[in-house]
Amino acid sequence: MDVNEAREKAESLREDLNYHNYRYYVLDDPVVSDEEYDGMMRELMRIEEAYPGLVTADSPTRRVGAPPGEAFQPVRHRARMMSLDNVFDTEELAAFIRRVENAVGYTDYVCELKIDGAGIALTYEDGVLMRGATRGDGVTGEDVTSNLKTIRSLPLRLLRERSVPYLEVRGEVFMPKESFRELNRQREELGQQAFANPRNAAAGSLRQLDPHVTASRNLDLICYEIGYVEGKAFSTHEEVLEQVAAWGFHVGEQWRRAAGATEIMEFCREWMERREELAYEVDGAVVKVNRLDLRDRMGSTSKAPRWAVAFKFPAEEKETRLIAIEVNVGRTGALTPTAVLEPVFVGGSTVSRATLHNEDEVRRKGVKIGDTVLVHKAGDVIPEVIKPIVELRDGTERDFVMPDRCPACGSKVFRPEGEVVSRCINVDCPARLFESVLHFGSRGAMDIEGLGPATISELMEMGYVRNVEDVYYLDEEQLYSLTGFKEKSVANMMASIATSKQRPLSRLLFALGIRHVGSHVAEVLARRYRTMERLAQASEEELRDIDEVGPTIAGSVKAFFAEPRNLELIRRLKEAGVNMEEEVEEGHGPLAGLTFVLTGALESMTREEARQAIEERGGRVASSVSRRTDYVVAGADPGSKYDKARELDVKIIGEGELAAMLRERE
Ligand code: NAD
Repeated sequence: MDVNEAREKAESLREDLNYHNYRYYVLDDPVVSDEEYDGMMRELMRIEEAYPGLVTADSPTRRVGAPPGEAFQPVRHRARMMSLDNVFDTEELAAFIRRVENAVGYTDYVCELKIDGAGIALTYEDGVLMRGATRGDGVTGEDVTSNLKTIRSLPLRLLRERSVPYLEVRGEVFMPKESFRELNRQREELGQQAFANPRNAAAGSLRQLDPHVTASRNLDLICYEIGYVEGKAFSTHEEVLEQVAAWGFHVGEQWRRAAGATEIMEFCREWMERREELAYEVDGAVVKVNRLDLRDRMGSTSKAPRWAVAFKFPAEEKETRLIAIEVNVGRTGALTPTAVLEPVFVGGSTVSRATLHNEDEVRRKGVKIGDTVLVHKAGDVIPEVIKPIVELRDGTERDFVMPDRCPACGSKVFRPEGEVVSRCINVDCPARLFESVLHFGSRGAMDIEGLGPATISELMEMGYVRNVEDVYYLDEEQLYSLTGFKEKSVANMMASIATSKQRPLSRLLFALGIRHVGSHVAEVLARRYRTMERLAQASEEELRDIDEVGPTIAGSVKAFFAEPRNLELIRRLKEAGVNMEEEVEEGHGPLAGLTFVLTGALESMTREEARQAIEERGGRVASSVSRRTDYVVAGADPGSKYDKARELDVKIIGEGELAAMLRERE
């Protein structure tokens, strides 16, 4: 690579890394894996090492995190909050120890677990918690005190302490694995996007505008450092941890003093294997020089201390056998190949199935039935087959062939040109009906308690349910004939079916499983049209004009209402007494009567969060600017709405002003 190529590559890497930092630290919504990110960072570091002339002051290799968002008050940290340099193997760790010894001579260390959460600083004055802040860009963070106070293990007052006028304790806020799984399960059920990993979930929960939301997220805290203290002196990190624990903070039980490389490696190896025992996610171990005077002598780079390093654990991968590839038929008729695996314990749970998404994906991965494959948890949650281990093949492995007939009903399978998904297009296919009924009764939809997979199968076998609406025509006698159904279960089921008839139109629209209409779009449509009848009559152009709808959804909604079978379904639901209306609360709250239009990318919240915050306070968010618009909120790179607002002389405000308005009117 010559210097020109290097410059170009470095610039492009910087641009990518800055974008990923923004997604990760500001939006809490990364789009690449940490491995990919780390790979880009290392490449940029290598280029900058080889061509020091190319280093810029604002290069992501020299900067910590991202500047604080505008929704919270900025807090300047007394002492900078740094990142950590990473090492990925024994050799790099040995090089770190050599660097320490060259600088200060032989010394001892403390090893801790590296908790995968969000770093915070807590300020205590005369023993009382005054402020809690995020790391931000290391110099300035965000004041998230009210949100931090929802963490039960956080001491609001230091225990047994009268002589410390000022103290800043640092630690990691994290979401336990169990809570993370549960939160993502709920979000998926509600049609919201799942968090990529527990760290983004913790950071996102900490940066909520409403502390009640934070409180519902079950966050916890482990502390590992003192940033600044008056009235006390320490000589080693061990003493610091002991004191922090004595003040009432949770410091974790796993930390250990280590004499040198061998003991450090023992600690790392032990926890690489035992990490699954922990209730929270760790992504490595942190090795710190124990003596504080030596730390001062070593100092830091612009980004990280020279006296500490993070030994990153590789994401866990395991080998297992791919026994078969099953094809499942979904509600929309989509045929999904699923890998059936010999059960294997990986990333904290036993995995025996993993989706292979579609035919092309099976081909791209190159997996065959009978292969030994490598599996992991993508984003630490979703089981995924990474690749086959080709060297272990013995010739008995078989290629997967997508069936040309539906495995459930035998009808011919159809794969439209240019699409990756094959579908069964028989609307009466039992597999499709089963999935449709399951979805119809699920929690985010009509929420019919007791209508689980086993009951649905039996209802279908007995011929009581031949289409979705039959659920509302079931009688007691039919229910009594089902396995295990007695007086109480029959009464409960009848009651939950009756209650579900009252659900609002938005839930019904979602329950109907119209393609591309998730729970959020269903809500948008229901609010706009209020009744099923009006929605059914809306023209495609009109639908397309609604913010968040667009041509694909509009086409799909229109096609749904054009199908006689669907009109019959709606007629029978109505006849059974199912509610077809949406009650929309007319603006109460401090922003009632005000109409906002959002344009451009907001930094501290997503547009959806901004919309929710405005609507919660009674305001309205419209999709296009008109003379009736009160405020246009312009983020980065605003679109044509911005020009329109100027043309119509509508007041344009920035994200900061919106945040202030929301705070003021809470
Ligand atoms: P880091 O998370 O690798 O390490 C520094 C942080 O570790 C500290 O700020 C502290 O909050 C935390 N920590 C946990 N336990 C600790 C302990 N015992 N002692 C001290 N600190 C402890 O560094 P970072 O700068 O926060 O983030 C960089 C990493 O984030 C990257 O390596 C990458 O994996 C990930 N990242 C990913 C993306 C993406 O798009 N996927 C984008 C940005 C960053």
